[in-house]
Amino acid sequence: MYRGPAEERVVACSACGARIERSEATFSPAGETICRRCDAAQRVTTSTANAGKSALYSALAALGLGLLSVPCNLFFIFSVMAITGGIVSLKLCLRPEFRAAFGTLFPWTVAAAVAAIVFGAVQPVFWASVTLLGAVSGLGH
Ligand SMILES: [Zn+2]
Repeated sequence: MYRGPAEERVVACSACGARIERSEATFSPAGETICRRCDAAQRVTTSTANAGKSALYSALAALGLGLLSVPCNLFFIFSVMAITGGIVSLKLCLRPEFRAAFGTLFPWTVAAAVAAIVFGAVQPVFWASVTLLGAVSGLGH
């Protein structure tokens, strides 16, 4: 079977199987020959996975602030920061492309973000109810 020089220059993309010019091919981090489209797609997946990791870290940071806000009520600064951080992390989790890239990190990120909001809400809810109860009992007298 005759294989022309043109055939030699064509390789198959290891990801999608498309036939590509050898000069057009790029290499994946694993050293496989892939086309540019798959290369770009893999880069997006990697950066999304990194974004998922940083979302988990920010959710954990918010949770830390939430835990700190319970014994340490400094003008509700920690509470506000914990709730804001928790909401930002939850919003990230709701984006479908993040959800896919998160993988096993997803439930942990959601749990940490929700816990951050819950702990962050302890002081505001406590003081709100104390104020409310005070106002109600004040009305009784
Ligand atoms: Zn490809």
